[in-house]
Amino acid sequence: MKKVIFFDRDDTLIKDVPYLNDPSKITLFPDTIDTLQKLKKSGYEFIIVTNQSGIARGLITDKELAAVHSKLQQIFADHDIHFLKIYHSPHMPDSNHPTRKPNPGMILEACNDFEIDKARSYMVGDKISDGQAGLNAGLKTFLLNESLSGCTSIKTLSELLEHIIQ
Ligand SMILES: [Mg+2]
Repeated sequence: MKKVIFFDRDDTLIKDVPYLNDPSKITLFPDTIDTLQKLKKSGYEFIIVTNQSGIARGLITDKELAAVHSKLQQIFADHDIHFLKIYHSPHMPDSNHPTRKPNPGMILEACNDFEIDKARSYMVGDKISDGQAGLNAGLKTFLLNESLSGCTSIKTLSELLEHIIQ
């Protein structure tokens, strides 16, 4: 069984650029690579779950999103970090689609796709909806600079290390 950390994408792993459709605009945070390398050494695998309503809004094409995610995977792969999969939900905020966070659909889909030990897995994000998605999926959940009952608040990604790695 895999122990997995589910990450939100924007303002969690990379800086948020609204409706990012240009791979050259991907910017990591200073502690992103180091944190994931240490988590990997502790046996964690990684999955990204990202809401991308820009697709439903017609602001990003599937092809552009694929190019962004291909570049993102390449940037991390250069540091020997790999994602099991990147899930995205293309639906509008008012759709209440089961895959759109705060709903847990993407995480539940991942749990179908991979053998994941939920008891030893985590969700990490920056928005209340990320926190709700993690809790709705039954995961221990961390929120960056946000607070929500049931979630652990952290100020930087690297703070994960003191909570997760014993
Ligand atoms: Mg975010």
